[in-house]
Amino acid sequence: MGGRDATMVLLDENGIRCDGRKVDEPRRIMIKAGGLKNADGSAYIEFGDNKILVGVFGPRDVHPKHMSNTDTGILRVRYHMEPFSVGERKNPAPSRREIEISKVIKEALEPAVMLEKFPRTAVDVFIEVLQADGGTRCAALSAASVALADAGIPMRDMVAACASGKVADTIVLDVNNEEDQAGQADMPIGYMPSLEKITLLQLDGVLTPEEYKKCVDVGVQGCKIVYDIQKKALKDKYFGKGDD
Ligand code: ADP
Repeated sequence: MGGRDATMVLLDENGIRCDGRKVDEPRRIMIKAGGLKNADGSAYIEFGDNKILVGVFGPRDVHPKHMSNTDTGILRVRYHMEPFSVGERKNPAPSRREIEISKVIKEALEPAVMLEKFPRTAVDVFIEVLQADGGTRCAALSAASVALADAGIPMRDMVAACASGKVADTIVLDVNNEEDQAGQADMPIGYMPSLEKITLLQLDGVLTPEEYKKCVDVGVQGCKIVYDIQKKALKDKYFGKGDD
Protein backbone atom coordinates (compact mmCIF):
# COMPACT_ATOMS: atom_id res chain seq x y z
CA MET A 1 0.00 0.00 0.00
CA GLY A 2 2.52 2.59 -1.09
CA GLY A 3 4.78 2.00 1.94
CA ARG A 4 8.48 2.70 2.13
CA ASP A 5 10.91 -0.25 1.97
CA ALA A 6 10.35 -3.33 4.14
CA THR A 7 13.55 -2.84 6.17
CA MET A 8 12.40 0.66 7.21
CA VAL A 9 13.30 1.55 10.82
CA LEU A 10 10.21 2.81 12.65
CA LEU A 11 12.21 4.50 15.41
CA ASP A 12 15.97 5.02 15.25
CA GLU A 13 18.49 5.19 18.13
CA ASN A 14 17.99 8.98 18.36
CA GLY A 15 14.22 8.63 18.78
CA ILE A 16 13.52 9.80 15.22
CA ARG A 17 10.62 8.22 13.31
CA CYS A 18 10.53 6.89 9.73
CA ASP A 19 9.34 10.27 8.38
CA GLY A 20 11.88 12.30 10.38
CA ARG A 21 9.53 13.34 13.21
CA LYS A 22 10.13 13.21 16.96
CA VAL A 23 7.80 11.01 19.03
CA ASP A 24 5.62 13.95 20.14
CA GLU A 25 5.59 15.78 16.82
CA PRO A 26 2.48 15.88 14.60
CA ARG A 27 2.68 16.00 10.81
CA ARG A 28 2.29 19.38 9.07
CA ILE A 29 -1.32 20.57 9.43
CA MET A 30 -3.03 23.21 7.28
CA ILE A 31 -6.74 24.02 7.48
CA LYS A 32 -8.67 26.45 5.29
CA ALA A 33 -12.23 27.44 6.21
CA GLY A 34 -14.63 28.01 3.30
CA GLY A 35 -13.92 27.57 -0.39
CA LEU A 36 -17.04 25.80 -1.66
CA LYS A 37 -19.48 28.39 -3.02
CA ASN A 38 -22.51 26.05 -3.17
CA ALA A 39 -22.14 24.69 0.36
CA ASP A 40 -23.43 26.45 3.48
CA GLY A 41 -20.06 25.80 5.09
CA SER A 42 -16.85 24.10 4.03
CA ALA A 43 -13.27 23.37 4.97
CA TYR A 44 -10.16 21.86 3.43
CA ILE A 45 -7.47 20.11 5.45
CA GLU A 46 -3.98 18.89 4.69
CA PHE A 47 -2.73 16.67 7.48
CA GLY A 48 0.65 15.32 6.40
CA ASP A 49 -0.13 13.80 3.00
CA ASN A 50 -3.87 13.50 3.72
CA LYS A 51 -5.96 15.95 1.65
CA ILE A 52 -9.64 16.18 2.53
CA LEU A 53 -12.48 18.50 1.53
CA VAL A 54 -15.69 18.86 3.59
CA GLY A 55 -18.97 20.49 2.56
CA VAL A 56 -21.83 21.16 5.01
CA PHE A 57 -25.44 21.70 3.88
CA GLY A 58 -28.30 22.79 6.15
CA PRO A 59 -30.14 22.94 8.40
CA ARG A 60 -32.55 21.88 5.62
CA ASP A 61 -35.75 19.87 5.10
CA VAL A 62 -35.47 16.13 5.60
CA HIS A 63 -36.48 13.82 2.74
CA PRO A 64 -37.98 11.30 3.26
CA LYS A 65 -39.96 13.17 5.95
CA HIS A 66 -40.34 10.15 8.26
CA MET A 67 -36.59 10.33 8.93
CA SER A 68 -37.00 13.72 10.60
CA ASN A 69 -37.39 14.20 14.33
CA THR A 70 -39.96 16.64 15.73
CA ASP A 71 -37.88 17.34 18.86
CA THR A 72 -34.43 17.75 17.38
CA GLY A 73 -32.38 18.13 14.21
CA ILE A 74 -30.46 15.21 12.74
CA LEU A 75 -26.88 15.04 11.59
CA ARG A 76 -25.97 12.95 8.53
CA VAL A 77 -22.36 12.25 7.62
CA ARG A 78 -20.94 10.67 4.47
CA TYR A 79 -17.22 9.86 4.44
CA HIS A 80 -16.11 9.02 0.91
CA MET A 81 -12.68 8.11 -0.46
CA GLU A 82 -11.95 8.95 -4.08
CA PRO A 83 -10.72 5.90 -6.06
CA PHE A 84 -7.48 7.84 -6.77
CA SER A 85 -6.89 8.74 -3.11
CA VAL A 86 -4.69 5.70 -2.44
CA GLY A 87 -1.78 4.13 -4.37
CA GLU A 88 -3.77 1.16 -5.62
CA ARG A 89 -7.11 2.30 -7.10
CA LYS A 90 -9.90 1.95 -4.52
CA ASN A 91 -13.13 0.30 -5.62
CA PRO A 92 -15.61 3.19 -6.05
CA ALA A 93 -18.43 1.23 -4.35
CA PRO A 94 -19.02 2.31 -0.73
CA SER A 95 -16.93 0.02 1.47
CA ARG A 96 -17.70 -1.28 4.97
CA ARG A 97 -14.80 0.89 6.13
CA GLU A 98 -16.37 4.06 4.69
CA ILE A 99 -19.72 3.18 6.32
CA GLU A 100 -17.97 2.62 9.67
CA ILE A 101 -15.98 5.88 9.46
CA SER A 102 -19.12 7.85 8.48
CA LYS A 103 -20.83 6.48 11.60
CA VAL A 104 -17.98 7.18 14.02
CA ILE A 105 -17.52 10.74 12.71
CA LYS A 106 -21.27 11.40 13.03
CA GLU A 107 -21.25 10.09 16.61
CA ALA A 108 -18.12 12.13 17.41
CA LEU A 109 -19.73 15.35 16.11
CA GLU A 110 -23.17 14.90 17.70
CA PRO A 111 -22.17 15.97 21.24
CA ALA A 112 -20.74 19.20 19.77
CA VAL A 113 -23.70 20.24 17.61
CA MET A 114 -26.75 21.86 19.25
CA LEU A 115 -29.22 19.72 17.31
CA GLU A 116 -32.07 20.77 19.62
CA LYS A 117 -31.92 24.25 18.07
CA PHE A 118 -33.24 23.08 14.69
CA PRO A 119 -35.96 20.41 15.09
CA ARG A 120 -37.36 18.61 11.99
CA THR A 121 -34.32 19.53 9.90
CA ALA A 122 -31.07 17.85 8.87
CA VAL A 123 -27.48 18.97 8.61
CA ASP A 124 -25.54 17.03 6.00
CA VAL A 125 -21.75 16.68 6.15
CA PHE A 126 -20.05 15.42 2.99
CA ILE A 127 -16.42 14.35 3.37
CA GLU A 128 -14.32 13.77 0.27
CA VAL A 129 -10.91 12.17 0.82
CA LEU A 130 -8.79 13.29 -2.14
CA GLN A 131 -5.55 11.77 -0.87
CA ALA A 132 -5.14 9.31 2.03
CA ASP A 133 -2.04 8.61 4.07
CA GLY A 134 -3.16 7.22 7.44
CA GLY A 135 -5.31 9.09 9.93
CA THR A 136 -8.04 10.23 7.55
CA ARG A 137 -10.85 9.83 10.12
CA CYS A 138 -9.12 12.27 12.49
CA ALA A 139 -8.28 14.76 9.75
CA ALA A 140 -11.83 14.50 8.37
CA LEU A 141 -13.41 14.99 11.80
CA SER A 142 -11.27 18.09 12.46
CA ALA A 143 -12.17 19.57 9.06
CA ALA A 144 -15.87 18.72 9.51
CA SER A 145 -15.94 20.70 12.77
CA VAL A 146 -14.51 23.74 10.98
CA ALA A 147 -16.99 23.33 8.10
CA LEU A 148 -19.91 23.15 10.58
CA ALA A 149 -18.70 26.31 12.31
CA ASP A 150 -18.26 27.96 8.89
CA ALA A 151 -21.90 27.06 8.12
CA GLY A 152 -22.95 28.91 11.28
CA ILE A 153 -24.32 25.76 12.92
CA PRO A 154 -24.64 26.40 16.69
CA MET A 155 -22.03 24.32 18.50
CA ARG A 156 -20.93 23.75 22.09
CA ASP A 157 -17.30 23.40 20.98
CA MET A 158 -15.34 22.16 17.98
CA VAL A 159 -14.12 18.59 17.95
CA ALA A 160 -10.39 18.42 17.29
CA ALA A 161 -8.96 15.02 16.40
CA CYS A 162 -5.56 13.35 16.32
CA ALA A 163 -4.31 9.79 16.75
CA SER A 164 -1.66 8.48 19.07
CA GLY A 165 -0.21 4.99 18.99
CA LYS A 166 2.55 2.56 19.85
CA VAL A 167 5.49 2.15 17.54
CA ALA A 168 8.68 0.20 18.37
CA ASP A 169 7.44 -0.10 22.01
CA THR A 170 7.11 3.68 22.28
CA ILE A 171 3.97 5.85 22.54
CA VAL A 172 3.97 8.37 19.69
CA LEU A 173 1.75 11.21 18.50
CA ASP A 174 0.00 11.13 15.11
CA VAL A 175 0.58 7.71 13.58
CA ASN A 176 1.32 7.84 9.83
CA ASN A 177 0.38 5.21 7.25
CA GLU A 178 3.59 3.14 7.59
CA GLU A 179 3.40 3.26 11.39
CA ASP A 180 -0.27 2.27 11.25
CA GLN A 181 0.57 -0.81 9.21
CA ALA A 182 3.85 -1.85 10.87
CA GLY A 183 3.29 -0.42 14.38
CA GLN A 184 1.74 -2.01 17.47
CA ALA A 185 -1.28 0.22 18.20
CA ASP A 186 -3.29 3.10 16.75
CA MET A 187 -5.69 5.20 18.86
CA PRO A 188 -7.73 7.88 17.03
CA ILE A 189 -9.10 10.48 19.48
CA GLY A 190 -11.68 13.24 19.03
CA TYR A 191 -11.74 15.83 21.81
CA MET A 192 -13.59 19.04 22.63
CA PRO A 193 -10.84 21.12 24.30
CA SER A 194 -13.01 23.82 25.90
CA LEU A 195 -15.36 21.24 27.41
CA GLU A 196 -12.55 18.73 28.07
CA LYS A 197 -14.67 15.91 26.63
CA ILE A 198 -13.62 12.99 24.45
CA THR A 199 -16.16 12.21 21.69
CA LEU A 200 -14.17 9.62 19.71
CA LEU A 201 -11.85 6.96 21.01
CA GLN A 202 -10.95 3.85 19.06
CA LEU A 203 -8.09 1.45 19.61
CA ASP A 204 -6.55 -0.95 17.15
CA GLY A 205 -3.85 -3.01 18.90
CA VAL A 206 -2.99 -4.07 22.43
CA LEU A 207 -1.77 -1.75 25.23
CA THR A 208 -1.06 -2.16 28.93
CA PRO A 209 -3.22 0.01 31.26
CA GLU A 210 -0.24 2.44 31.66
CA GLU A 211 0.33 2.64 27.91
CA TYR A 212 -3.40 3.17 27.40
CA LYS A 213 -3.38 6.18 29.75
CA LYS A 214 -0.27 7.61 28.12
CA CYS A 215 -1.78 7.16 24.66
CA VAL A 216 -4.91 9.08 25.71
CA ASP A 217 -2.79 11.89 27.22
CA VAL A 218 -0.54 12.14 24.15
CA GLY A 219 -3.55 12.05 21.78
CA VAL A 220 -5.36 14.78 23.73
CA GLN A 221 -2.24 16.97 23.52
CA GLY A 222 -2.31 16.43 19.74
CA CYS A 223 -5.99 17.44 19.64
CA LYS A 224 -5.09 20.71 21.40
CA ILE A 225 -2.52 21.46 18.68
CA VAL A 226 -5.17 20.75 16.02
CA TYR A 227 -7.71 22.95 17.88
CA ASP A 228 -5.44 26.01 17.63
CA ILE A 229 -5.11 25.43 13.87
CA GLN A 230 -8.91 25.04 13.52
CA LYS A 231 -9.49 28.35 15.33
CA LYS A 232 -6.83 30.05 13.19
CA ALA A 233 -8.59 28.83 10.02
CA LEU A 234 -11.85 30.46 11.13
CA LYS A 235 -10.12 33.66 12.27
CA ASP A 236 -8.27 33.89 8.94
CA LYS A 237 -11.54 33.64 7.03
CA TYR A 238 -13.70 35.92 9.18
CA PHE A 239 -11.23 38.43 10.60
CA GLY A 240 -8.07 38.01 8.57
CA LYS A 241 -7.22 37.42 4.94
CA GLY A 242 -10.94 37.24 4.00
CA ASP A 243 -10.38 35.96 0.48
CA ASP A 244 -13.81 34.30 0.13
P1 ADP B 1 -7.61 6.08 8.89
O1 ADP B 1 -7.46 6.69 7.53
O2 ADP B 1 -8.57 6.83 9.75
O3 ADP B 1 -6.27 5.84 9.57
P2 ADP B 1 -7.65 3.20 8.50
O4 ADP B 1 -6.81 2.89 9.68
O5 ADP B 1 -8.80 2.28 8.17
O6 ADP B 1 -8.31 4.66 8.68
O7 ADP B 1 -6.77 3.35 7.19
C1 ADP B 1 -5.42 3.68 7.25
C2 ADP B 1 -4.93 4.08 5.88
O8 ADP B 1 -4.94 2.99 5.00
C3 ADP B 1 -5.77 5.15 5.17
O9 ADP B 1 -5.56 6.46 5.64
C4 ADP B 1 -5.29 4.96 3.76
O10 ADP B 1 -4.05 5.64 3.54
C5 ADP B 1 -5.07 3.48 3.67
N1 ADP B 1 -6.23 2.81 3.03
C6 ADP B 1 -7.47 2.71 3.50
N2 ADP B 1 -8.29 2.07 2.65
C7 ADP B 1 -7.53 1.77 1.58
C8 ADP B 1 -7.75 1.07 0.33
N3 ADP B 1 -8.95 0.61 0.00
N4 ADP B 1 -6.71 0.95 -0.50
C9 ADP B 1 -5.49 1.41 -0.18
N5 ADP B 1 -5.20 2.06 0.97
C10 ADP B 1 -6.19 2.23 1.84
